[in-house]
Amino acid sequence: MRGLQARDRIVMYWPTETECTQPGCGHDSVTNAKKKIDCTVCDDRGYITTWSTQLLTARVVRPETLSYNIKVGTIVAETADLVLFVDRFEKDTISRMVVEERSYLEVDGITYRPTTTNPIGVTGSDEFRIDCTTYSPR
Ligand SMILES: [Zn+2]
Repeated sequence: MRGLQARDRIVMYWPTETECTQPGCGHDSVTNAKKKIDCTVCDDRGYITTWSTQLLTARVVRPETLSYNIKVGTIVAETADLVLFVDRFEKDTISRMVVEERSYLEVDGITYRPTTTNPIGVTGSDEFRIDCTTYSPR
């Protein structure tokens, strides 16, 4: 069983879109669709997505276990499927993930997206709480 204080290495997935270069295809900015309807290489908008990965170090907490941890001292939003605690230096990365709507992270084979980041404690926080919900990559 995973200890509450254990640090986990979590894989984050970041999409990069490039326009389809098949002959006659590409993104049509007027219709917001691909130019060559029967192209099988790209998505509906004429783009090809490649995924890059990045490691995140965090404490992983299931919401149902969190309420028993007095040290945490916070209330978990009922909508969170997973809660992460990350060091301050990871906060910008998480904020970028909140904005990049197709990015996601994977924990124990389940994929999630972060929804909110909150500092822990009242003075200059060293740690942030990240609430996540399950998500199907697209
Ligand atoms: Zn195409």
